[in-house]
Amino acid sequence: MFDSLSDRLSGVFDKIRGRGALSEADVRDAMREVRVALLEADVALPVAREFVEQVTERAVGEEVVKSVTPGQMVVKIVNDALVELLGAENAELNLNVNPPAVIMVVGLQGSGKTTSTAKLAKRLKEKDRKKVLMASLDVARPAAQEQLAVLGRQAEVETLPIVAGQQPTDIAKRAVQSAKLQGYDVVILDTAGRLHVDDALMAEMKAVASAATPAETLLVVDSLTGQDAVNVAKGFSAEIDLTGVILTRMDGDARGGAALSMRKVTGKPIKFAGTGEALDALEPFHPDRVAGRILG
Ligand code: GDP
Repeated sequence: MFDSLSDRLSGVFDKIRGRGALSEADVRDAMREVRVALLEADVALPVAREFVEQVTERAVGEEVVKSVTPGQMVVKIVNDALVELLGAENAELNLNVNPPAVIMVVGLQGSGKTTSTAKLAKRLKEKDRKKVLMASLDVARPAAQEQLAVLGRQAEVETLPIVAGQQPTDIAKRAVQSAKLQGYDVVILDTAGRLHVDDALMAEMKAVASAATPAETLLVVDSLTGQDAVNVAKGFSAEIDLTGVILTRMDGDARGGAALSMRKVTGKPIKFAGTGEALDALEPFHPDRVAGRILG
């Protein structure tokens, strides 16, 4: 479907094969192709521009070693810069607080928030042997709390009993209180989502954050919403202290450009990737794999 970046660049560099150092003009030609590759991978335009500027500075004047073509050289420089930006290592959760450690999961409706909450709970229970309690704070959408309870049963993770009419901050406090009394290690709060970032949603997120003092606040973003994802990330990170991102639907056609946009806009690590609907389909984020996928 897409030409790989190496293929694109071989055309650009055919005419300069054999020269010593990458000149500014050669690099600029190459970077036009890099920019197209990034945009095709759904990296947001301003993010792609800034990235290309930085890599241009880095590439100009680089000596082309004999064993590689200039095109391969540029691909390597771009790939290294991408991996560096996406985070060289996969980022762990930081749950080193007095238990229960609270993880607040935020994002727009439909991003995969509730599913990711259950996936994360299952993972913490099975891989990290944590005792996990989940609670849905979504009182706006009918059946949202029940949806989490259903997923909890599938994942064999406890959910906080539903009390009709209770408000999000009160549910959050009740979850933390129950977790303390019953010796849970981790509480995961699945917060309400809306179709767009709005003031009421942000006010609610802030209120929940101050009631529950989360150790981690993870923004869930659908990787298929490449360009829009930037606005979502801006909206949330302007109002609350995010600690990381979960990128969902990385099993789909997405080429992963949203990962780069998220990293740039939030400045926070991408901690997990959702790779399917099943509750086991959550993986630590691998920058090197995603860089390869973005470059095609
Ligand atoms: P929420 O409104 O943000 O809580 O979204 P949900 O968790 O209800 O997810 C919406 C839909 O996306 C559901 O059908 C999920 O099964 C699906 N979904 C969530 N994460 C992933 C993922 O990583 N890959 C795929 N293919 N589907 C996902």
